[in-house]
Amino acid sequence: MLRWIDVLKFATVGNPVPAGKIERSDAQWRAQLTAEQYRVTRQQGTERPFSSGMCEFFDPGKYACICCGTMLFDSGEKFDSGTGWPSFTQPIQENAISYHKDGAHGVEVRCNTCGAHLGHVFPDGPVPAKLRYCINAVALKKIESKERKATLGGGCFWCTEAIFQNLRGVVKVESGYSGGEIPNPTYREVCSGRTGHAEVIQITYDSDKLSYEDILRVHMGTHNPTTLNKQGADTGSQYRSIIFYRDDEEKNIATRVLAEASEAHENSVVTGLAPFQAFFAAEESHQDYYKRNQSKPYCDAVIEPKLAKFRRTFVHLLG
Ligand SMILES: [Zn+2]
Repeated sequence: MLRWIDVLKFATVGNPVPAGKIERSDAQWRAQLTAEQYRVTRQQGTERPFSSGMCEFFDPGKYACICCGTMLFDSGEKFDSGTGWPSFTQPIQENAISYHKDGAHGVEVRCNTCGAHLGHVFPDGPVPAKLRYCINAVALKKIESKERKATLGGGCFWCTEAIFQNLRGVVKVESGYSGGEIPNPTYREVCSGRTGHAEVIQITYDSDKLSYEDILRVHMGTHNPTTLNKQGADTGSQYRSIIFYRDDEEKNIATRVLAEASEAHENSVVTGLAPFQAFFAAEESHQDYYKRNQSKPYCDAVIEPKLAKFRRTFVHLLG
């Protein structure tokens, strides 16, 4: 997660390397863009505030550069700033945007692929990142997307990640931390139990192929939701069973699935239900742990039996 200190570093020391570069002549940009798009993106212009309905638009999807089509922002990071310009608290990728000192306005942000002027970034956004990317709507193109995210805790993320990687419709599973007090915690800090984070996985999935309800059923069916702050031999609040929902619809679905789970278990289900706030990816060595470490005793003894049970129980949902 990028914070103000990272923005300042990029603007002074150098910008992140983009996935690619696109260069076109001024005449080509003029031919491709409307007069207003050209004025804003290629001539550092600013649109009138409240001139676009995009400010009040929060449906799921992604936002691409109007000039080159590079994905810049995700609707999950969009918030209502009340300024009259679409506002985001993070870019979709750390290298999607470049940062440039601008005497009058602070830090200018551009598309890191084609150099299009997008707007500015300020350190007064919502927690935890506290960034506000103030973007001209005319510089963006909304892209509909069936991709959604689900964030769940069910004990050690090495295990839960390995399970969800096998579901149909899953685009990506990341191991990380959620539900705690500080931004960008380390594994060591989370293991101390003092930051309040849970070890979680964040699943990106195609909502046409997999439903949130199915994801939650798999979640509840593949860990023990009746042991408070404990999962097998792992003990501590970082191993708590928890579902982070993103809207009221997900909250309702989760409430229903938890009620089903309560019926199915003799002991009380202790799974927590909390609004999603932020996800922090774990260190690289924790990603794809099972795939990269299958010969290790932990994988053999702990993860493999869980995977086998999952494959038997949820055969209809396998990818
Ligand atoms: Zn661009």
